[in-house]
Amino acid sequence: MITKKYTHLFFDLDNTLWDFSSNSYEAFYDTLKRLNLLSVIGPYEDFFTIYSEENERLWDLYRKRQVTKKVLRVERFEAAFIRNGTPLAIGGDEVNDIYLEEMVNQTQLVEGARELLEHLYGRYKIAVITNGFTEVQYDKIHKSKLTKYFDKVITSEEIGTPKPGKKIFEYAAKSINAPKKSTLMIGDSWEADILGARDFGIDQIFFNPKMDKLDFEGLFLSISKPILSNIFQGSPLILVPDSENNYKKKVQTSLISRLDQLFAIL
Ligand SMILES: [Mg+2]
Repeated sequence: MITKKYTHLFFDLDNTLWDFSSNSYEAFYDTLKRLNLLSVIGPYEDFFTIYSEENERLWDLYRKRQVTKKVLRVERFEAAFIRNGTPLAIGGDEVNDIYLEEMVNQTQLVEGARELLEHLYGRYKIAVITNGFTEVQYDKIHKSKLTKYFDKVITSEEIGTPKPGKKIFEYAAKSINAPKKSTLMIGDSWEADILGARDFGIDQIFFNPKMDKLDFEGLFLSISKPILSNIFQGSPLILVPDSENNYKKKVQTSLISRLDQLFAIL
């Protein structure tokens, strides 16, 4: 018999519940259409790839606090257009404003997200911990009709520290009275969600839907000597060494590729 171990859950939002990849693809297309830029950028798919890389690069700098929110928002678009060989004639801020408008209109969820939240609703205290911007993340949740499922939504912008910083996890735990022992983090970012929650000292589920081979090798490489065993009915348990290189089982790291795998343990 599986005893119910967890009482509190922390969820990441983008690409864990809200389908950021699909939604941003649509939103960016609609943005370029509104700005009459579709005809100048070449094949949309190629341009979207460039934009995504620039966006990720800028977000990385933002997480490391090397650029401000304002720089991130403007620069990701201006840099993408420059790299594409079609520099913008308007400001990146103008593109950003329209993109954010279009973004919050998108409501596609990760497969199984609503069913899972419906299953968890009323049975767990749930907080969303997201590195997005406050007004954007709240709008996404509201428009996607997810508001009722969450006891608390915490954004890095409000707290001033993005994941994997400890402060945002501490704040989340305090705000829903979550004891570390019985709290579980679920997220798709190894660095922000999983390492962040490990550092904070709670169990984590790494949601890796693509089971990306490269990610996987990187993951195993980074933990050098993983010990895998079956817990949670088929979900591998990864033990990561602490600073002394001991494989201590202080907190558990598990892996899933589909959200419905969580039904087995929650
Ligand atoms: Mg995410």
